Amino acid sequence: MRKKIVAGNWKMNTTVPEGVQLAKEVVAKAVEVPSDVKLIIATPATHLVPVAEVVKGSVVGLSAENCADKEKGAYTGEISAAMVASTGAQYTILGHSERRQYYGETDEKLVEKTKLALANGLGVILCVGETLEEREAGKHFDVVGAQTLNVLNHFSAEDMKNIIIAYEPVWAIGTGKTATADQAEEIHAFIRKTLADKFGAQVADDTTILYGGSCKPSNANELFAKSDIDGGLIGGAALKAEDFIQIALSF
Ligand code: PEP
Repeated sequence: MRKKIVAGNWKMNTTVPEGVQLAKEVVAKAVEVPSDVKLIIATPATHLVPVAEVVKGSVVGLSAENCADKEKGAYTGEISAAMVASTGAQYTILGHSERRQYYGETDEKLVEKTKLALANGLGVILCVGETLEEREAGKHFDVVGAQTLNVLNHFSAEDMKNIIIAYEPVWAIGTGKTATADQAEEIHAFIRKTLADKFGAQVADDTTILYGGSCKPSNANELFAKSDIDGGLIGGAALKAEDFIQIALSF
């Protein structure tokens, strides 16, 4: 059975004390959220250890925003999947469009990162999504299909139990422009069909597919009402505990 999930991506925001405070607020308000909705916060790597202490024993899961494509060694500045797992985090986001755009994250690197994350017991939130130019050229299905399969072709149906997909149209991230619920549902259904063709109907039905891109309390309800949208990956609105929780109450 797929899960309803609301995950917050804090990106490069908050100092450690600010992040700890925000995590405490999320944990305090999480009691309002029905138990069938899973909450996850993805924090900067510097915050994982202290935030792990804050969320311990609560219903709030913890995620990194990235991990390295190498196991360990002379890779200055990188943070391995094993390091992430050792903080107490249970997930990592991979393939966020900002990493694809600014840090040369390729599908090939994502295969390595995903392998290492899974090998270290981390759940993966794999992001896919087209740019505005690609959408306007009518290539959004091709782009999202290729991003999905270029990575998932290297994994098994068993691995899919630990992989969540986040559809995030690049033109909707941080822009205030949300995909309409129908636009999002169309791509979510397409991703699920892609999974069904590759892994079978059961895996497709069991995989959680999140929508991300200017999702906020005022539009979450309409998005989450769609049958193939299982929740959200939330950027800006995850930086306010009240908004984040309000989104989680929108199913
Ligand atoms: C994101 O970066 O994952 C995201 C969805 O950002 P925002 O909600 O701010 O558009």
